[in-house]
Amino acid sequence: MDTGAGVGSGGGFPAPAASGKDDAMNGTVTNWAGNITYAAKELHRPGTLAALRALVADGDRVRVLGSGHSFNAIAEPGPEGVLLSLAELPPEVDVDTVARTVRVGGGVRYAELARQVHGQGLALHNMASLPHISVAGSVATGTHGSGVLNGPLSTSVREVELVTADGSVVAIGRDEERFGGAVTSLGALGVVTALTLDLEPAYEVEQHVFTELPLEGLDSGAFETVMATGYSVSLFTDWREPGFRQVWLKRRTDQPLPTFPWAAPATEKMHPVPGMPAVNCTEQFGVPGPWHQRLPHFRAEFVPSSGAELQSEYLLPRGHAVEMLHALDAIRESVAPVLQTCEVRTVAGDDQWLSPTHGRDTVAAHFTWVEDTEAVLPVVRRVEAALAPFGARPHWGKVFTLPAPALRELYPRLGDFRALTRELDPRGKFANAFVRDVLTQA
Ligand SMILES: Cc1cc2nc3c(=O)[nH]c(=O)nc-3n(C[C@H](O)[C@H](O)[C@H](O)COP(=O)(O)OP(=O)(O)OC[C@H]3O[C@@H](n4cnc5c(N)ncnc54)[C@H](O)[C@@H]3O)c2cc1C
Repeated sequence: MDTGAGVGSGGGFPAPAASGKDDAMNGTVTNWAGNITYAAKELHRPGTLAALRALVADGDRVRVLGSGHSFNAIAEPGPEGVLLSLAELPPEVDVDTVARTVRVGGGVRYAELARQVHGQGLALHNMASLPHISVAGSVATGTHGSGVLNGPLSTSVREVELVTADGSVVAIGRDEERFGGAVTSLGALGVVTALTLDLEPAYEVEQHVFTELPLEGLDSGAFETVMATGYSVSLFTDWREPGFRQVWLKRRTDQPLPTFPWAAPATEKMHPVPGMPAVNCTEQFGVPGPWHQRLPHFRAEFVPSSGAELQSEYLLPRGHAVEMLHALDAIRESVAPVLQTCEVRTVAGDDQWLSPTHGRDTVAAHFTWVEDTEAVLPVVRRVEAALAPFGARPHWGKVFTLPAPALRELYPRLGDFRALTRELDPRGKFANAFVRDVLTQA
């Protein structure tokens, strides 16, 4: 099987289990994008930790569904397995204003977390493009925002609490060696019931949008300079022409106001996907606002992105950024017809063993494709071929076709992660087809 080529094994499950609610989707559950119908025997939504522990202990194959925003079968347990949703567990958000930490339940989404953290005068270091996603599901796949100094969202995690295969509760803290595998774990170690995150004092951010940044404007060291002009900087293009249609610069108001001579300020509010309404997007034109209402591109109360799409993303060492841009420009005539928008971001390296940004400061090229798997997959393969010379790692939660052996080569600490799965899940209860593909030793 191609790991996560974006095609589910199909076939929903006949009826929600006793502990679940009636399903609005005719007895099937799909991901947010609708390109995956999860194969599973049963869906359960336990309402208490005790019920969750019993379900895990009794199950042979178990996977958790977060908010379902991944574009591949990473969450799928398989036809004989149990899918668990944590949506009916109490939505714990417990802020410690003295320690500047928050303990957040395994089903809570960033929108709710951010609202409560901000209410206590505190903040997270960064957010993804949307706040609709669950915290546990996001850090499990290496989800990130942008910023030359900002690590992925997992870098704020200081402790993970898991229900492991026999139903026991295990806490793994940052001071333990095995913590390196515990956060960006692809859901392979157990059910994450809580995470403790670092916080910092709340801050304000302004968002400035610029238009038409030529590709050659990023050569000769300018890429690093442009990406470092703000706390978080994103470049967007549809690859119909060389260069970038939009630059989104998010500046913390406690940091200096940059000049941006490379492109002209936008004259109207913009959406990264051409033709989509800018009202869905967070405030622009430099209006200062709270961190959680500026760091995401999309507002919590609106549909994020285009809503009808597939996504892929590749993360490679930042030193290859300009070569990467020229490699993509060279295939833009193949890419543009199936592309809604491409976003280029930076992420600081981290030390989670399976993090796509493990051990290297990163440039990330993201693609919002049209909603047509058949048309998109050949282009995904072309992009992968173009980026392979740079050691590009695919985003775990998006569409990719890279064969498992090539994927395994990209993760030097994979052996340590395998050992951790053997320790916490000796019978492979949480190892679905996606995870087995990644972990299986050649
Ligand atoms: C519109 C859109 C915009 C996006 N923007 C970004 C972006 O800016 N940056 C980025 O990096 N990614 C982005 N993504 C991808 C997204 O962040 C990831 O797919 C992320 O994993 C979604 O979280 P989720 O809760 O929906 O996870 P799911 O897809 O539900 O699950 C992902 C994995 O986490 C596991 N999991 C979930 N919860 C638990 C738990 N409690 N315990 C154990 N395992 C668990 C699942 O089993 C699965 O393996 C975007 C996706 C969409 C749809």
